[in-house]
Amino acid sequence: MPDLQTRTAELRQLDDQYNIHPFCDGKELHERGATIIAKGSGSYVWDSDGNRILDGMAGLWCVNIGYGRDELADVASSQMRELPFYNMFFQSTTPAQISLAKRLAEITPEGLNHFFFANSGSEANDSIVRLVVHFWKTEGQPEKRLFIGRNLGYHGSTLAAVSLGGMKAMQALGHEVLPDFHHIPEPHHYVRGGDLSPEEFAKKAAAELETKIVELGAKNVAAFIAEPIQGAGGVIDPPPGYWPEIQRICRKHDVLLVVDEVICGFGRLGEWFGSQYYDVTPDIMPMAKGLSSGYLPISAVAFNERISEALRMGGTLTHGFTYSGHPVSCAVAEANIDIIERENLVPRTREEIAPYFRKVLQQIADAHPLVGELRGQGLLAAMQLMKDRDSKTFFEPSEPVAIDCRETALQKGLIFRAVGSAMVLCPPLVITRQEIDELADITAASLDATAKAYGIA
Ligand SMILES: *Cc1c(COP(=O)(O)O)cnc(C)c1O
Repeated sequence: MPDLQTRTAELRQLDDQYNIHPFCDGKELHERGATIIAKGSGSYVWDSDGNRILDGMAGLWCVNIGYGRDELADVASSQMRELPFYNMFFQSTTPAQISLAKRLAEITPEGLNHFFFANSGSEANDSIVRLVVHFWKTEGQPEKRLFIGRNLGYHGSTLAAVSLGGMKAMQALGHEVLPDFHHIPEPHHYVRGGDLSPEEFAKKAAAELETKIVELGAKNVAAFIAEPIQGAGGVIDPPPGYWPEIQRICRKHDVLLVVDEVICGFGRLGEWFGSQYYDVTPDIMPMAKGLSSGYLPISAVAFNERISEALRMGGTLTHGFTYSGHPVSCAVAEANIDIIERENLVPRTREEIAPYFRKVLQQIADAHPLVGELRGQGLLAAMQLMKDRDSKTFFEPSEPVAIDCRETALQKGLIFRAVGSAMVLCPPLVITRQEIDELADITAASLDATAKAYGIA
């Protein structure tokens, strides 16, 4: 990309001049300059200087089938030529949209056969808030309008999605939390478990949901929302026994269970959905990211029979987006599902690649003095960096240890994400063993350099 290389400085300058970046400190960016990603193929991206970088984050937790799939470009191109846009409002839709809905019904867990379409995870979750309140009204229980989420939960960036989530820094930016939203602590055994066994802690953490429901009054609680594994919160996978208990509590109190599959869906944990991995049956299941592997924006919400019946038969549904069920996004999403299926990416993740990924990372985590805990499941992982892992001393929030480690890794050709003092990995499902070895080598070298810089041996 000789053209681009000579233009990197100019592009950085223009970026600085015109852009407002999401989740970014503008002053720091101004000094450092943006990383400009110009090309992708398989598990790799190339920056505008031509450096090849292994993408350990699958873009933003989404490029499950890897970059550079001509097949998706071809599908998008022919759909655009045939019909670039039509909407789902006022009793219309398109063949591409219908075809995707049918396909989703085939792969989603039993009982989830009706879908509402939007363009992002945030819109999906925002829609859930509106549609759930509407649902309870049609059921004759209009007082059921409170939502419970979890601390460090992430459900998107719109006002309602931020309220469902439990990200304090995001809430501090705007309106805090809307009035009808409540939270329980995250089920992180390493941080909150004390002397309890993981199983004992699972019971305790799930019981916090029941306590909250009782405190708010079950007759007022509309829904509980949680990710199968908390992603943006730092890859917090719950201890064994947590999910069945959560499901039991929701059923007991007639609180709808919303399982946010935006990251865990579409093969990440070695099942099509995280709900299947944890053997729970959601009432409502939002999905996005892996639905199209990020090739185009699209999201969907699956509803069970009880709710979808009410939404379909409960009068005019005064909700929707211009691009709900956009035909080009739908065609691309279906082609993405075809690829996941044809290339056996779900069983491959479960039986072959995720076990290798975890084995290799576990070896690093066990050996390295900087790493206190390896967590996650499947192709979703985090290493908790510790100031002193023997005495379980965490770094201070003011110590940017994970960010320093991330910058080192980037220089060496690997993208991972820093969340607090943890390093997070979420590679494409198509990653090979050889690429995992490369990821591991760079990770280990970056941890070494970071440990040295922080005086840890
Ligand atoms: C990314 C994410 C969202 C928000 O999706 P956007 O497309 O960024 O709006 C919602 N839920 C989870 C679990 C996510 O990881």
